[in-house]
Amino acid sequence: MKKGMWFAMLVGLAVGVAPANRVSAQKTPERVPGVWRPLPSAQEEGLLAERVALWRKERLWHMVDAQNGYLLSGFESRPGSHPWQGEHVGKWLHAATLAYEQTRDEKLAKTLHETVERLLAAQEPNGYLGTYAENKRFYTVPADGKGWDVWTHRYNLYGLLAYERFHPDDRVVKACERMADLLIATFGEGKADLTKYGTRKGISSTTLLESIVMLYERTQDRKYLGFAEHIVECSENAPGLRLMGAMLKKEAVSGPGEGKAYQLMANLLGYLLLYKNTGNARYLKTVLNGWENIQADHLYVTGGPWGRRMSYNANQECFALPKDFAPGDAVVETCSTTTWIQLNLHLLELTGQARYAAEAERAVFNALMAAQHREGIDWCYYTKANQDYRPFADKITCCASSGPRALEMFSRCMIGEVDGGISLASLVPCSAILPESFGKAKIKVTGNYPFRPGIEIRFEEANDKNFGLEFRDPADARLTSARINGEGIALTKNDRGFYRICRAWKTGDEIALEFEYLLKSHIETPKDGQRWVAFTYGPWALAQTMDKGAVVVEPFAGKDVPSKAASEWLEPYPPQEETVPRFRIKSTKILLGPFYCAGTEKTGPRTYFKF
Ligand SMILES: [Zn+2]
Repeated sequence: MKKGMWFAMLVGLAVGVAPANRVSAQKTPERVPGVWRPLPSAQEEGLLAERVALWRKERLWHMVDAQNGYLLSGFESRPGSHPWQGEHVGKWLHAATLAYEQTRDEKLAKTLHETVERLLAAQEPNGYLGTYAENKRFYTVPADGKGWDVWTHRYNLYGLLAYERFHPDDRVVKACERMADLLIATFGEGKADLTKYGTRKGISSTTLLESIVMLYERTQDRKYLGFAEHIVECSENAPGLRLMGAMLKKEAVSGPGEGKAYQLMANLLGYLLLYKNTGNARYLKTVLNGWENIQADHLYVTGGPWGRRMSYNANQECFALPKDFAPGDAVVETCSTTTWIQLNLHLLELTGQARYAAEAERAVFNALMAAQHREGIDWCYYTKANQDYRPFADKITCCASSGPRALEMFSRCMIGEVDGGISLASLVPCSAILPESFGKAKIKVTGNYPFRPGIEIRFEEANDKNFGLEFRDPADARLTSARINGEGIALTKNDRGFYRICRAWKTGDEIALEFEYLLKSHIETPKDGQRWVAFTYGPWALAQTMDKGAVVVEPFAGKDVPSKAASEWLEPYPPQEETVPRFRIKSTKILLGPFYCAGTEKTGPRTYFKF
């Protein structure tokens, strides 16, 4: 289906689309249901399961105690020691809540409940739940004062509402309402301008949008929807921000809010949720145009959104124009990787489109896993495509608190329900007992994806229930064989980019799928005249592992790299540990393997080569 047709179909879901921004004052807004709904699944083996388990076993508990109880100390003994110390507990609550849904670990349940109780107990009578001293709080500072106090409330609302979704508790909702009411009393209509409070032209504070819409979704109290739309109005009236206006005109993401990548994408999450709760197509268009710009021009081959300090933006965490691409300089903030994954997963849920699952997966298996230390506690704040070591640290930072959320969110979306069928968003080993409507069939996906591009899906229990089961190609791969119980079948993709098999499923039915990973080269030609090439193999970004301080040799210098296919430059090399794919740059000793494992404290990846 053509993009325009698909968009029209999606908008068609939204009955009563209003032309204006503000729909809440006129009539009951229409909620747009997502088409792809995650179903519970379990991952017990494979790379994703390993990395998720690592977080649950190590960093999840490290965060509870680290730095003298840093997670809560800023709330319980104000003022805190760092301007955005307050964000971590909300992020932890989100990730730990999702972890508990999978593990049902009693100790984790106890710690979750205790953390929530302690956070609620720290709320002031006026609803304030930040870490600032009285005279520095968002409601006491002068109109042009700046800070991260609203940011803390954005994450408290997010974390508490994410927790409450699984552990219903009116006291938690009440605490969120009191926070939001204080924010409305300060930044509501006719009050102070929220965008004047946040950094980077206000874009850090307007991330509040998503949390406020979450509260509206939970309470159905129209005053929160009204406040959400007021945030949009303030944002549009702020000349350096106006994210929606810029995205609707297809301007570059390097402009609004000085292009602050993490916050810009977090704002898009807000617009997406606002669309779902109003049906206003402009909000969706804002997100889709932003997504297209980021996907086309602002990602490394690792799926990591890169930023670089330039004269037209504020710092290295801001999107820069593609002409300023520089893989040894441009950084990926792990918060940005996380938010990009989150945006893709939410778009998958809204639209059921395979491409969003593919983008989320690419970022998870490359940029995200590269930032997580293989021993589980340390994370990188920044990574680069080319660097000679990975700056891991155990400290509690925004990025180290964000990364695990992406692991949990992604692993929660392995299997979903769509169009009356079952959909695999990824091919990683997992199992699930399907809902009643699918006859409680028990399915198991085996193989060693993403290391090996072949899997089996087995119905361990089924009772002749007729339904569709769908799956997608991994990124940059093609389906070479599909068999059911040994017999080959021909498949075509549906409008959403998935292959679908419909039949009455029986116990013992087995689907065997084989894909071929395609080897591809990716050329970047920034304005400084330097030309770069990187290689991918299916969903893997390939990189050389460089020793810290090693002399860099350029194997492609002076060669016309674009004139030949990637397979003319690289040759397969025996895999590492039997499964990890490797290539050799022909006529050299340079080996390339998956980006995520090409780095330690003493080594780093070289992903882009000069030519
Ligand atoms: Zn960060």
